Amino acid sequence: MVIKRKWIFDGEAPWSDASRVLLKLDTGSWRTERPVLDREKCNYCGLCALYCPPQCMRDKGDHYEPDLGFCKGCGVCAKECPRAALKMVPEGEFLNG
Ligand code: SF4
Ligand code: SF4
Repeated sequence: MVIKRKWIFDGEAPWSDASRVLLKLDTGSWRTERPVLDREKCNYCGLCALYCPPQCMRDKGDHYEPDLGFCKGCGVCAKECPRAALKMVPEGEFLNG
């Protein structure tokens, strides 16, 4: 059997394959805080990416970084990180660069 229809959801796709095609909502505009990584603490375990609800943690080869276009600032990644390598920082601290 050949599946001809490709399922593309109009809304945000929870537990997607992290394909940017499936990340439709501009959840980055909701954010009041953003996760900031301490690279020294990160051991590249990937738990932050696993638990991120919109699946917007990007694999950078030796660490993960949030795609701020879609990160909604929920803080789940920081909560789940076993090494406390992610810290939620208020957006106001980034207003002037
Ligand atoms: S969960 Fe923490 S230690 Fe693991 S990859 Fe993410 S930031 Fe790094
Ligand atoms: S705060 Fe962390 S878990 Fe929440 S959306 Fe952003 S990257 Fe994902």
